[in-house]
Amino acid sequence: MIGLSNIEVEERIKKYGYNELKEKKKVTWVKILLRQFSNILVWILFAASVISFFIGEVLNFWVIIFLLFFIIFLGFIQEYKAESAMESLKKIVQPTTRVIRDGKVRKIPSREVVPGDLLILEMGDKIPADAEVIEAINLKVDESILTGESIPTNKNVGDEIFAGTLVVSGKCKAIVTKTGMNTKIGQISKAIESIKEKTPLQQKINSLVKRLSILAIIITTFIFIFGLLSGSSLYIVLMTTLALSVGAIPEALPLILTITLAYGMYQMAKNNAIVKRMIAAETLGSVTFICADKTGTLTKNQMQVEKIYTNGRIYDINAKINLRDKGLNLLLKICVLCNNAELKSDKIIGDPTEGALLILGHKANISKDKLEKDYKRVYEIMFTSERKMMTTIHKHAEKYLILSKGATEVILKRCKYLIKEDKIKEMSEDDIKQILQINNKFANDAYRVLALAYKEMENFDKNLNEIEKDLIFVGLVGMADAPKENVREAIELCKKAGIRVAMITGDNPITAKAIAKRLGIYENQKVDIEIKNPKLLEIVKDGIITGDELNSMSDEEFEEVVDYIYVYARTLPEQKLRIVKALKNKGYIVAMTGDGVNDAPALKKADIGIAMGSGSDVAKEASDIILQDDNFATIVEAIKIGRIIYDNIKCFTTYFVSTNYCEIFLILLSLFLIGVDYLPLLATHILLINMVAEDLPAATIGLDFSREDVIYKKPINPKDKILG
Ligand code: ATP
Repeated sequence: MIGLSNIEVEERIKKYGYNELKEKKKVTWVKILLRQFSNILVWILFAASVISFFIGEVLNFWVIIFLLFFIIFLGFIQEYKAESAMESLKKIVQPTTRVIRDGKVRKIPSREVVPGDLLILEMGDKIPADAEVIEAINLKVDESILTGESIPTNKNVGDEIFAGTLVVSGKCKAIVTKTGMNTKIGQISKAIESIKEKTPLQQKINSLVKRLSILAIIITTFIFIFGLLSGSSLYIVLMTTLALSVGAIPEALPLILTITLAYGMYQMAKNNAIVKRMIAAETLGSVTFICADKTGTLTKNQMQVEKIYTNGRIYDINAKINLRDKGLNLLLKICVLCNNAELKSDKIIGDPTEGALLILGHKANISKDKLEKDYKRVYEIMFTSERKMMTTIHKHAEKYLILSKGATEVILKRCKYLIKEDKIKEMSEDDIKQILQINNKFANDAYRVLALAYKEMENFDKNLNEIEKDLIFVGLVGMADAPKENVREAIELCKKAGIRVAMITGDNPITAKAIAKRLGIYENQKVDIEIKNPKLLEIVKDGIITGDELNSMSDEEFEEVVDYIYVYARTLPEQKLRIVKALKNKGYIVAMTGDGVNDAPALKKADIGIAMGSGSDVAKEASDIILQDDNFATIVEAIKIGRIIYDNIKCFTTYFVSTNYCEIFLILLSLFLIGVDYLPLLATHILLINMVAEDLPAATIGLDFSREDVIYKKPINPKDKILG
């Protein structure tokens, strides 16, 4: 299967267009301009100008006309800025997909997919166009976006799959049949237009504006009646009342709020945090707990084998490797063959853990391609986070070689023998103890440890229980995975910012603890634990729990201890949901990171779901924020911007409301004390003050993102009132 050629692709793009859904309502500048006329302010000013004109107040007329244009222009510029910030955001999050073209696998922007393209899809991918399945392994697709049905559908060869739906397990190849608006989702035009929900702050501000407007109307009506009764000229009273109502109604507030949020989202995007929904930009400021994945978020996920234990000896891996050791020889073979990664011109394609094993082989001049010719792979039992191991079966010299690698405790359970002093022996209790000792020693030094084992079989059938049984233990490898830059500092900052951090990992508790210590997440916690239940106390007394321990607790028990836990080790992605639920029940505002399909429920449940840019489409779909650089430090930076947004909103709202009401009370007071004819502010003054001395400074406060200090304050309480 070689797929389409470049020329065919170009022709088809011309014929069918790009693979994208036409947005129903594209916002043009004309629309934004027309929108300005929906502002009552504009109409009040218009009325005032007409009145001035007919009375013959030429100067007033021109001033008001000037202000009218000014306010339309200001509104237009601000809204235009907000819209273009949102547009550039959309461009940053362009989805990609894998296709075969000209016989080569390529990653292309999904909008460039054309009918006839050969798609390669696997667990976690979002399907870019309607297509027909031509090869499938355990393929299951979540079609809820089309059907509302949340149980995944099995798909086999010949079945149709649809754009916008998600591959939740297995993999497939498929030929694209329809793209863009011709797809099913295009037809029912359930366009992926973002739902324009109002954020809590927007709701709060809208209701504030409503209440203040009613108050303004009551006061200005009173001034109008009082002015007329006191015998002043109708023109002055009318103009003053109109100008005051323009001043008192905080019309511009919701607009400035939207601009602040949109601009804040743009700032976050520039810092590599793509916020998908406005509400998230706001909630970020309130985050009190971050649950972060270890590998890839806190650490670089660039593994490097530094230690090997085999045949009773420990090796430090420097440049050259001595292949005379029989155990070492065998161990390297397993590393390279029981492996799905590839090494192309020194670049790893695939899982970094497996990549590290290939590089180890490379150092000993063992090439996977060459070795596989001699040891043809006939079967694979896949690695999953649940199984924590992987096995491949190879045919060699009329025999079958079973090669396994995985978490030490998992592999040891499947081993009956071991290689020691170049011989295969039955494994004793003491041997197991010794292996575990070395395992813990590696883990204590923050190495990720994998165990390797093998056996030979005369015949091979696919009885999995028989295959991964009675294996021969060969050795351990210890891989270093350095913390990412800035993560330690970011965690330090979290402490000052009143934000708790917990690390979640599938790795073993000792490695997890060692890394958490390096990062400052874990500091030999000897917390004052107020837990009476001795069983629970025993589990959480060191601040670390494992997935099994978590399973042994009821929801109530877990909630009792969740405050004291800093590290979750040997955790399954599914367990993240329980962690989020417990933390939320305890009143935390939780941010949770994730990248895989199984992380999706927890990402949805969290107050802020954060997907990794390198993660699956399913995780990205379920999250509120996508981290372009997969870095924990970026989350903290985004939280800082979230807090600035909130602070700015509070500042300009207070400023707005206080200046508005200053004017009103000044007029009211002088009305009572000296009468309508001697008002300290004339209508045009009031209008000028409003436009020049209120709207502009308020907008400037909203867009001031240079305030570093906010991170040292407490997280924002979402129940806080805007006007305290
Ligand atoms: P994190 O959750 O931080 O990403 P993790 O990568 O260790 O941590 P998993 O990928 O769920 O989490 O892996 C769990 C365990 O399975 C690992 O600690 C390791 O012992 C083992 N393991 C990981 N990758 C492989 C692999 N490719 N083949 C065999 N075993 C593996």
